[in-house]
Amino acid sequence: MCPEPRQEFSELLGQTAEYLAWLKADGVSRIEVGRALSNRKPILSKGDTVETELAKLAKVISGCKKCVLHKARTNTVPGQGNGTRPEIMFIGEAPGADEDEQGLAFVGRSGQLLAKMIEAMGYTREAVFIANIAKCRPPDNRQPTPEEMATCIPYLKQQIALIQPKVIVALGATAVLGLINQTGISKLRGTWFEYEGIPLMPTFHPAFMLRNPPCKKEVWSDLQAVLKHLGRTPPPVKKAD
Ligand code: SF4
Repeated sequence: MCPEPRQEFSELLGQTAEYLAWLKADGVSRIEVGRALSNRKPILSKGDTVETELAKLAKVISGCKKCVLHKARTNTVPGQGNGTRPEIMFIGEAPGADEDEQGLAFVGRSGQLLAKMIEAMGYTREAVFIANIAKCRPPDNRQPTPEEMATCIPYLKQQIALIQPKVIVALGATAVLGLINQTGISKLRGTWFEYEGIPLMPTFHPAFMLRNPPCKKEVWSDLQAVLKHLGRTPPPVKKAD
């Protein structure tokens, strides 16, 4: 169930205060407000780069015990890839067993399918950034609860503010709910939204595609819309030897 507006506002205030405290502790004394993320330069501490800020954030995440998901994790999974204004940031739900073991996002079966999609678009995994809404694996691969999502998502929001992708691809219902507070992935997919001024395309999660292969067609159509938005065309399909 969606939180009441007052409760949601109160949670947002709490998360904003926490983020500001984190920035202050990191040496940031001034921030600009009122411009969309897509037009903004990342807020960096003196002498820091986006990569060092992302590494610092990953360190904070590695010690996080803010929700119950820390109890069963092997590794935190902050996400990885090109952190300096990549054309695309893919955002999924939460780590699975392989991701938990390796500390890397999307490295299991779903990750292999995502890698094929990325390649078909003409990119490499290293050229884009890949992350999740929750940074620790939920037991039995269940969906993160609304409380767990609300607790963890400030980390992702900090990453987006630093990375500033040109486009976000939200993979599946949890990513869409976490980022734009919308439900109904089947009706939302293929339609452009915005997250903090960044164009956001919802599409199905690769795990859903593995269970429902016919939906690959819809996902490819969504990804082609992303390419069109970026002024790109997919590379020619390689012929099998
Ligand atoms: S899921 Fe997120 S909030 Fe929960 S313990 Fe892991 S890093 Fe912290």
